[in-house]
Amino acid sequence: MKKILDGMMSTMNAVKPPRMTALRELHEAETGGPFSILIGTILSARTKDENTAKVVRALFARYRNARELAGARLRDVERIIRPIGFYRVKARRIIEVAKIVDSEYGGVVPEDIDKLVGMPGVGRKTANCVLVYAFEKPAIPVDIHVHRISNRLGLVETKTPEETEQALMKLVPRRHWLRINDTFVMYGQNICKPISPMCGVCQIRAECLFYRNNVPAGDPPSPPPPAKPAGRRRSGGRASPVAAGPQPVRSSRPRRRKSA
Ligand code: SF4
Repeated sequence: MKKILDGMMSTMNAVKPPRMTALRELHEAETGGPFSILIGTILSARTKDENTAKVVRALFARYRNARELAGARLRDVERIIRPIGFYRVKARRIIEVAKIVDSEYGGVVPEDIDKLVGMPGVGRKTANCVLVYAFEKPAIPVDIHVHRISNRLGLVETKTPEETEQALMKLVPRRHWLRINDTFVMYGQNICKPISPMCGVCQIRAECLFYRNNVPAGDPPSPPPPAKPAGRRRSGGRASPVAAGPQPVRSSRPRRRKSA
């Protein structure tokens, strides 16, 4: 797994150093405590990272802790978080969560996954994000990027993020857990995108089941130039199915790795 994580970072730095994820930004911020990370994670669902970070900063400039947010007026919170998706639902949800943190946990976010998932709108991914980014406790938050890339690499063969989390926990040594979400999310946003993954520049091609299954037999795995839009061909040449994006996987699947 270290080889994969290092290879991802090296690829991203070679192509274009990525911006931090919203949660890493909150983690690094001087004001970023566990409560802001919990609220930031709830707000980040289906929202661009840059919007999340901005909105969380604005929210915490107005409400500094769980007690203050618990006492906020719904319409004031809605106005502040309006730039993000589903802001009405999320405004109600974060006030409810603030009330629970304030009244049941004395204003302190619990470090316990069972207590976290007991809060409204907090699933395993959110709870694991809080453990990783707020408390630096080993956990593997699995979002769409972690799920997709783990399957493409052939680390797991799963249908849902929940299955991926369980499979990765069995496969990956705990010492690597803290790096997985951050690195895979940045890689999924910048290189191993859902459509047209940039396999041509990817430095972990040799580790990738998707790549191996899509390299035409006999072709050396030399990298094409950085990704072209899906389906585009160079004149006189053959479009690489790998650079062009996800393709049907061939039947001659190599064996999956046993450990990472
Ligand atoms: S699918 Fe392509 S970009 Fe993604 S990990 Fe495999 S080789 Fe790299």
